[in-house]
Amino acid sequence: MTHTEATSRISFEKLVTVLEQIFAKHGVSSVNARVLAVNCATCERDGSLSHGIFRIPGYVGSLKSGWVDGCAVPVVREFGPAFIRVDAMNGFAQPALKAAMPRVIEMAMTSGAAVVAIKDSHHFSALWPDLEPLAKAGFVALSMVSGLACVAPPGGTVPVFGTNPIAFATPVAGRLPLIFDYATSTMSNGDLQLAARAGEHVEIGTGVDKEGKLTTEPNVILLGGAMLPFGGHKGAATALMVEIMASALTGGQFSSEVDISAHPGAETSKTGQVLIVIDPNRGGNFKFADRVKTLTQSLRIAGQSRLPSDRRYATRALSDKSGIPISAEQLRELTSLASTDIP
Ligand code: NDP
Repeated sequence: MTHTEATSRISFEKLVTVLEQIFAKHGVSSVNARVLAVNCATCERDGSLSHGIFRIPGYVGSLKSGWVDGCAVPVVREFGPAFIRVDAMNGFAQPALKAAMPRVIEMAMTSGAAVVAIKDSHHFSALWPDLEPLAKAGFVALSMVSGLACVAPPGGTVPVFGTNPIAFATPVAGRLPLIFDYATSTMSNGDLQLAARAGEHVEIGTGVDKEGKLTTEPNVILLGGAMLPFGGHKGAATALMVEIMASALTGGQFSSEVDISAHPGAETSKTGQVLIVIDPNRGGNFKFADRVKTLTQSLRIAGQSRLPSDRRYATRALSDKSGIPISAEQLRELTSLASTDIP
């Protein structure tokens, strides 16, 4: 999905304010509302549209149905010099991570690394906003999240995995961090829903119908079929790792164990998230960020014209200059959810 249907533009600060109002109106504490609003506006600003404004009705559905606690106060506990557990208390993952962040940074500086295991959390967004501040502070960071089961293993028809994203961030000397962040399914579920809404076909290999036959019809995949991991058995193994790290390790539910059936309208998954933060200066290397810069330059010289996060940073620069594009329909939806006029 692109910003092409935009009819007007909104500033980042204004969008955050409107989103805060929506979250607060639907029972989210002010501290959590701020974190979620900044996260969502940040996605929209950078053109991560499958996890920006598009997700707001899903957040609201989960809140209204009582599936997620918008006022949850996360409990942060330490288990050794480099391990933090966070119980999100059935709240959103981003406020849980934010509560742990000061200690995560201290630990990574003193111990050289920090592992954060978050459980009982709802993650409904892109992962890169969780990592970018860490890479800007000089750390290498890796995160994984499990989800709602909608991805079958190769050869199967029963969804076992969520779209299980994985993200990695590293400092690059003199530049914004290099970050990649992707679903281990062929595409994110949000993008598949957007394709269904637009009446578009998807590539063969994206998913199967309920008999396990490949199909290009998004609705056949979404309603009774299953998505597939990217790259056959290699993507499936990566999705399996995410499930183990984000759910088994943290004490969270597996994607296939999440049952939202008693909460009509709920859309968020209640699983876990793992975050690994490393101080690269402990690695015995010489000027780590410079070495990464050299490597990225080699890739460009070798012919790779686009590196991960290039597109996002370019979209961000445009949004910062001219405002975030927003369509008339989105504006109407936000206004109605916030029950207020957006100036
Ligand atoms: P994309 O395929 O859109 O992008 C994956 C990554 O690859 C991005 O870092 C992107 O950089 C980069 N990239 C894309 N195309 C190219 C290219 N041609 N050359 C080089 N790099 C490229 O990601 P997905 O659709 O798989 O996932 C989208 C988002 O959905 C992610 O942020 C993910 O975290 C989120 N998600 C969240 C879930 C949750 O439960 N919370 C579940 C599943 C997904 P760039 O950003 O600059 O385009």
